[in-house]
Amino acid sequence: MIEQQTACFICEHRETESGFTTVTLTRDNLAFITRNVPAQVFEICGEAYADARTTTTVLQAADAAPHAGVHVEVRDYVAA
Ligand SMILES: [Zn+2]
Repeated sequence: MIEQQTACFICEHRETESGFTTVTLTRDNLAFITRNVPAQVFEICGEAYADARTTTTVLQAADAAPHAGVHVEVRDYVAA
């Protein structure tokens, strides 16, 4: 499958460079923060977009995390 680069929603430019971003998910009372997530970062505005597979990995890690008594969890991204 060929991934097509879409324009940024904010600045409408298409130029990106590979970088990292921080993804924050909130579920009920839990904030699940994943650092160093690989992403394409738009050069103009700095907005970052993780691809679908990376996003799925982050979501699965959040679902697998033990939530009992934990309100904020911060971890580094680990590739699937
Ligand atoms: Zn942009």
